[in-house]
Amino acid sequence: MVKKLRVGILGATGMVGQNYIQLLDNHPWFEVVYVAASPSSAGKKYSDAVQGKWQMSKSIPSNVKDLIVKDANKVNDAKGKVDFVFSALEIDKELTRALEDEYAKNDIPVISNASAHRGTYDVPMIIPEINHNHIEIIKSQQKRHGWKKGFVVVKPNCSIQSYLTPVYSLINAGYEIKRIFITTMQAVSGAGYPGVASLDIIDNVVPLIKGEEEKTENEPQKIFGKIIGDKIVSDTSIKISAHCNRVPVIDGHTACVSLEFGSKKPSIDEIKKIWKNFKSVPQELNLPFAPTNPIVYMEEENRPQPRKDRDLHKGMAVSVGRLRVCNVFDIRFVGLSHNTIRGAAGGGILNAELLKAKGYLK
Ligand code: NAP
Repeated sequence: MVKKLRVGILGATGMVGQNYIQLLDNHPWFEVVYVAASPSSAGKKYSDAVQGKWQMSKSIPSNVKDLIVKDANKVNDAKGKVDFVFSALEIDKELTRALEDEYAKNDIPVISNASAHRGTYDVPMIIPEINHNHIEIIKSQQKRHGWKKGFVVVKPNCSIQSYLTPVYSLINAGYEIKRIFITTMQAVSGAGYPGVASLDIIDNVVPLIKGEEEKTENEPQKIFGKIIGDKIVSDTSIKISAHCNRVPVIDGHTACVSLEFGSKKPSIDEIKKIWKNFKSVPQELNLPFAPTNPIVYMEEENRPQPRKDRDLHKGMAVSVGRLRVCNVFDIRFVGLSHNTIRGAAGGGILNAELLKAKGYLK
């Protein structure tokens, strides 16, 4: 039997942390042995700390419910107890950066969901089907800080997962993309727990998610970037304009996307073929959380829909539909992904599996 890696979850009591705990139950490579959250949860049994706010469909796994929650700010408590941590903290950016660096400095690799380190030039921001090769920057990151075993890897914003892999698959097939226009309809679970007040969101759409449009417009440029020397240099050739809206959906971010190609333009049938056949490194490596088909095209004229399609391939696939000609750009389509699974904990787990398969997590 393979010895499982010991995993810690920082922010274990929150929306993303709870998803990690549910998704990692019986994971073939990883086992949750350490949970940490704010000082107000520290010292409590995990089941007591999440009492009244456990949001998952299954009950708390038996190996986690009695763990004593630690204070995530006390890095020394985790030393020697974990092989790596998932960070799902909701604290000030400066503090998050400093804390994640402190774990790395103490030989604990960090796979983060927080946005704090997404702009750091030698921190890879990974969607494993797209920029798996960016993990090679870890060597430069460790050298810069003098870290031996620790490092920080992040995953991008949850809403861009709904369309970035379909967009990348077209670039990968040789079709240059010049401009993208996106309108997102984002679920309330994206705001954490308790998140958006019910009186703000029921019977309503909120046309502002602070900072989200900037992330939507900037993060793809880093993901499509290249490692040059000791930096990831963003590809700024694609112009993106985004509108991000909060809608009364529990899980699943939807995006309406229009694309403009360069001089070479694929036909609608060609695009569907590219999406259907798209596979990448996670599928080749047969990683446990890799969806068999990362992009699923739905022919029904009224799909994808969050309630019906967000759980496709255990919440790890991107569903797309309504591909048609655009009267302003070249094509338009609708994309959907599960924000707390593919867009958060599941995406983080797939990153960890990639890092383990490539020898970065031991
Ligand atoms: P959340 O539900 O508000 O949970 C926040 C977690 O951080 C809780 O465990 C909380 O512990 C802990 N925390 C709060 N203040 C702390 C402090 N001072 N020291 C240590 N721990 C503290 O948030 P979330 O939605 O899970 O999001 C977590 C992170 O993932 C955020 O950075 C968010 O931007 C990112 N993210 C979220 C999603 C999503 O769909 N929700 C998607 C992608 C990325 P207590 O319970 O003890 O307060």
